[in-house]
This record gives sequence, structure tokens and C-alpha cells, in this order.
Amino acid sequence: MGNIEPSPFRKLINMHRLAPGIDWAILVFLFLIGSLHPSPQMFYSSLFILFFGLMAAVLGISQLLYSISKSQGSRIQGERRKDPPIAREIFDTSRSMFVAACLAAWPIGLYRAGLPTGYAWTLQEMGLTWWMVVLEMYAGIIMIDAYSYWKHRILHTKLLFPFHKNHHSFKDPTPFAGFAVGPFEAVLTFWPVLIICYPPAKHFVPLYMTAIVAFVLLNLYLHCGVTFKWIEKITLPIGLNSSGWHNVHHSDVVSNYGELSYIWDKICKTSREDVADRKQAVSDEAQADLIVEQM
Ligand SMILES: [Zn+2]
Repeated sequence: MGNIEPSPFRKLINMHRLAPGIDWAILVFLFLIGSLHPSPQMFYSSLFILFFGLMAAVLGISQLLYSISKSQGSRIQGERRKDPPIAREIFDTSRSMFVAACLAAWPIGLYRAGLPTGYAWTLQEMGLTWWMVVLEMYAGIIMIDAYSYWKHRILHTKLLFPFHKNHHSFKDPTPFAGFAVGPFEAVLTFWPVLIICYPPAKHFVPLYMTAIVAFVLLNLYLHCGVTFKWIEKITLPIGLNSSGWHNVHHSDVVSNYGELSYIWDKICKTSREDVADRKQAVSDEAQADLIVEQM
């Protein structure tokens, strides 16, 4: 097989070499840009509280889930043959939590400085009835699900995979890998928190916080490496992603992209079954061609 020459564009931009530098530059940029916040003091103190708060919560729950998963639940990939790279998972998690904290420090810093934001604590402030708030939140979840699926698909393109490949080095992940993504991917994941800086974009805090906590718990479960029958029985029928579903994306890489639900995998035929069917069809076609050639 002859070597395929990379295009001039690829020669010029070798993303595999550039991605680590861009990732570190993003962290420095997000930290320094806080000096332009209307209240830099509130920004940096919020960043400090958020970063250590998020780390304590995510690592604490991960440790608990990891301990439980060692003795309970059904292992998806069979017994582990070697120790998981937990130190590396924690390192990547700490970078993505730093990104999340830098972004969330913008609206929270504004709120703490007494400036207007989209945070609403009561239904009166929202100007909606309770069922309208629930409906609005449901629509928001559907939008975030679609966004996260397509964000993930884009991260699997040749150009952007260098920013995502580290997450795939955790082939048999533990909960510590739940947020172990690079800074570029973390910005793509967490930037929507900035919307709350715009006061007319009202968010009902009690429901919003509940949704965020649920998302964190679900994401840690998706990476725990085991399934619990009773959880899968709840998540799968309502279209939510499950540990059994997402673990496949770590072992197979080219299927099961959904991060919140598996609906888009079904729509776009990117589930493991669909990918296997396509591979089978291609191999059947090749076999048929060979038979025709030999005749
Ligand atoms: Zn992926």
C-alpha cells in the first residue's frame, strides 16, 4: 500500500502536536480573562471556592462509587487485568473542573457582587407557573442532549480528535474519568453556564441545581465500569444513557456517542448494533465481489 501524502493544510496544522499547547493556553487564558470581570475580587474568590468545592464533590462521590463498584454490580468488561490509571484520571478531572470553575465564576461572581444575572429563586421572579418551568427545563434538557451528542461527534473528526483522545486512553474507566477531558473539550461542555450572565435568560435555581447534580451523578455512573440492574431498569426505558451503554464508547470508540441519552445514537444509527450491522454489510459485499471475480 502506498503512503498517502497528508494535505498541505494538515502539514501546516498538525493538531496532534498543537493540541496539548492549546489546552494549556486555554487554562491560562480563562484564568487571566477573569481580571476583566466587573468585580475581579468576586471572580477570583468564586473561582477558588468553586474549584475546591467541585473537586471535593466529584472526587468524593467518585471514590464512593469506585469502592462500591469493586464489590457490587456486574463488571461490563470482565475482571480488570491491571490497575486503572486513577492518578491520570484525577489529573485530567482537575483540569476540566478548573475550566468549569473559571466559567461558572463569571455568573456567580456577578451575583455575589450584587449585579443582575439570570438566577431566579422564585416562580414570581421567573414570571411562570410551576408546570411552565418544568416544561421549559425539559426543553432545555432536550437541547443540551442534542448539543452534547453533536459536540461529541465533532470531537471524533480528524481535526478535533487530538483534543478528545486522552479521554479514550481510559479504555476501562473508573468514575474518576467521568470528567477527565481536556480543557478544549471542557470549554465546549461547560460554556452554557455563561448564558446566566445575561439577566433576561432566567434560570430557576432549585430546578437548575437539581439538574446539574443529576447530570454529575449520571456522568460518574456512566464511567464506573459496572452496571446495577435497578439503575439500568430506570434509565434505559426513559431514554437516559446508562453505564452499560456508555462503557461501549470507551471500548469500541466508534459507537454510542450519546452523553445524556441514547436517542441521537438511535436516530443517527451510531449504536454498537448499527455500526456492527454496517461492518457486516461491507464484509458481505466484499465476499460477494471476490466470488464474482473468481468465477
Ligand atoms: Zn468519544
